[in-house]
Amino acid sequence: MSEEASETIKSLEKIFRNNANLAKTLVGYIDKFYSKLQKDFGSFKIMDFCGTHEWTITHYGLRSLMPEGLELVAGPGCPVCVTPSYYIENAIRLGFEGIVIYTYGDVYRLPSLKPLNGASSLAEAKALGAEIKIVTGIGDAILDARAHGKEAVFLGIGFETVASGYAQTLISNLLPENLKLMSLVKLTPPAMIATVDILEKEEENSVKGIIAPGHVSTIIGAKSWKPVADRHKIPVVVTGFEPIDVLIAIAEILKQLVKGEAKVSIEYTRAVSWEGDLKAQEMICRAFKVVEDAWRGIGFLPESGLRISDRFASFDAFREYEIPEIAPESCQADLPKGCRCAEVVIGKEKPTNCPLFMKKCTPSSPVGPCMVSLEGTCAIWARFGANGLADRIADELELR
Ligand code: SF4
Repeated sequence: MSEEASETIKSLEKIFRNNANLAKTLVGYIDKFYSKLQKDFGSFKIMDFCGTHEWTITHYGLRSLMPEGLELVAGPGCPVCVTPSYYIENAIRLGFEGIVIYTYGDVYRLPSLKPLNGASSLAEAKALGAEIKIVTGIGDAILDARAHGKEAVFLGIGFETVASGYAQTLISNLLPENLKLMSLVKLTPPAMIATVDILEKEEENSVKGIIAPGHVSTIIGAKSWKPVADRHKIPVVVTGFEPIDVLIAIAEILKQLVKGEAKVSIEYTRAVSWEGDLKAQEMICRAFKVVEDAWRGIGFLPESGLRISDRFASFDAFREYEIPEIAPESCQADLPKGCRCAEVVIGKEKPTNCPLFMKKCTPSSPVGPCMVSLEGTCAIWARFGANGLADRIADELELR
């Protein structure tokens, strides 16, 4: 056996949690179920909502194990990708007005559309003198803002997973008076419904199953995906993030389709329940109100975002700094020229079909929002999509 082949085998053992036989069995089930469906359905897509699932699928080469005609596509589950430029532009403006801005590391590099004082991202604003600080969470911001006492804003970008933490800081009165929260939290099931709505209008036999995010579902519960399954009459499987988890989810979706079912199943039972975390849900309800929200590249979606409730208005950055909500025209023209993120985030287009992919737009020099975060589809494909490892592993293990 060549050195390269033995390295491949080692990778394989890690990749499939030392259980290549299970992977082979699952791929066998996927082939079997898909061949039964092909006559009625032809080609179709299974969509992963979440950037972390897209990472698993791409990094571990799971696409190479799928039968021809079964396409795995990524959905809008990258909060950095779907945050409109308008909010970043406002954060940059506040930074230049002397307010300390706290942000996650990926948001720091997110390109904005309209430069302000020569800055087209928070990183550039910092280089030009604004006080922008990268933090790992709101806790870091609280400690730092307490220490310096200056006016400060925390950019609260994320999905339901981070919302409960933000809610707790508000309810437990942990925010110092000088620190405000700009809640840009987005809610995942409404975006999934809208995405499949769009694709169903444009493509026949498009999405026939959803791989739903495990981490978000620990908070909201698998029950929150029932409206997706009911509306589109497709299976939804709440799934963990190991490659084996994803293969199980795909097999389960196909099995349901063969049986004519469209249920929500939980593959990730080691972390997710049907009801979810009721205490966290109750805190989110108290601290926030649900609003129509703007998703970059998609548009306004009903009941898809969280803003701070009136009860905690004094901690709301929008009210404190009189930042109006985004206008429809800012939401419509929200991507750089040539960028195809609007199609990438709804699984309609592959990153490799964007003319800028790995030419003008790269992970070290992103043009569009999907190339910034580790959860962005373009960034994932750029890093892990084209090295041929997946094919070598699949062949070595006779997985296909
Ligand atoms: S490669 Fe870059 S420019 Fe093209 S869709 Fe992706 S993020 Fe946008």
